[in-house]
Amino acid sequence: MLATPTAEKNAYEVALENFDLAADALGLDDSLRAMIKYPERILCVSVPVRMDSGKIVRFEGYRVQHSTTRGPAKGGIRYHPNVTMDEVKALATWMTWKCAVVNIPFGGGKGGVTCNPKALSLGELERLTRRYATAILPLIGPEKDIPAPDVYTTPQIMAWIMDTYSMNVGYPVHGVVTGKPISLGGSLGRNEATGRGVFYTTLSSMQHLKLPLGGARVVVQGFGNAGSIAANLFHQGGAQVIAVSDTRGCIYNAKGLDVPAVIAFKERTGSVAGFPEAQKIAPEELLALDCEVLVPAALENAITADNAHAVRARIIAEAANGPVTPEADRILDQKGVFLIPDILCNAGGVTVSYFEWVQDENHLFWDEQDVNGRLEKVMTRAFSDVLAVHVNKRVNMRLAANMVGIGRVAEANRVRGLYP
Ligand code: NAD
Repeated sequence: MLATPTAEKNAYEVALENFDLAADALGLDDSLRAMIKYPERILCVSVPVRMDSGKIVRFEGYRVQHSTTRGPAKGGIRYHPNVTMDEVKALATWMTWKCAVVNIPFGGGKGGVTCNPKALSLGELERLTRRYATAILPLIGPEKDIPAPDVYTTPQIMAWIMDTYSMNVGYPVHGVVTGKPISLGGSLGRNEATGRGVFYTTLSSMQHLKLPLGGARVVVQGFGNAGSIAANLFHQGGAQVIAVSDTRGCIYNAKGLDVPAVIAFKERTGSVAGFPEAQKIAPEELLALDCEVLVPAALENAITADNAHAVRARIIAEAANGPVTPEADRILDQKGVFLIPDILCNAGGVTVSYFEWVQDENHLFWDEQDVNGRLEKVMTRAFSDVLAVHVNKRVNMRLAANMVGIGRVAEANRVRGLYP
């Protein structure tokens, strides 16, 4: 059983319950659970910003370090009106297990500012970012806690954080954030990394299920960074991407969409809606299409108890964070859908963030082929580790991924001797 979010249970409570399920399956005792379950450090900050009007507006910001057991805390910064302390705590917790699943030497962290970045001018966004970075300065640093982009934060915002940090210490520190512009110590391949990771883990799933990639029908909800890059890789690999969507519409072509043409169309018009060689379908029809692979790559809670019964995909690849609710998980499980859980499927982004940090710290940069080759190795190994638990322990893939991640953090905690 997986925990179910209800009106009374928020994302953090669900994260705690899912921790207990994995800890039960691993047989962790109460003392060890007490050591690794909860955030190590939580900071809530006031972010006063001078708006273009001259008025000062106060925003609230957070930085949570869930774990530094396996290395510095690592995790993005989100700018969104719905950011709450509990959401940041939940996301920080997931980052801990995600970094452990792909076995990179980081713990988990997350940050956020409750704001609507779309309503801010560029100047306001810069002032908000620099003030927030100053406020969380005591926590961050290349050896302590390394932020990155998340929802509505960009390479430019990472550049401002890097600059604010560097001005405070008096010398340039590239490794304090990842997801930076290439000109400021960013890594080649970082922008494509999440989509690539989705592709590699799906490929591994298809090999496991003995499904050929050639001709496989793929559906992608959310044609943004992760979704469009994954779609293009499926297309290049010979699969048929039959439907894609964004907030403005869903498009379908039974013979397969010309993905590079859809990308060019979206670049020109801002949306996939209206792409000429396709028909328009409704969002609920897209999720219910008969296909080999469904990639939810938009936001959380896309597949719920209300629509999970209609899903006809053989594989669901969770490019987004939390796109399938725990209740939908149970329904999909019963239907025999093979799920690649988010902490495995979308971990390509944090993996190349790790590569970026390694390159920054060593002042030695790799070519793109090198980055992609290393990413493929990490993702396919992580997939095999999770699959082995799924097969040997007869648990679903989500629980298997949590068991791998939480098991590694527990073991690191044990050998560090923090646990008496
Ligand atoms: P993005 O903003 O580039 O793309 C999101 C896309 O989803 C947009 O095209 C948007 O129009 C579309 N969308 C939003 N709501 C939709 C809906 N209801 N129906 C259909 N389309 C909808 O964001 P992204 O970076 O691609 O991130 C997507 C998801 O992947 C998020 O959940 C994010 O947390 C997760 N993720 C991203 C990365 C990364 O490196 N980009 C890493 C890990 C996880």
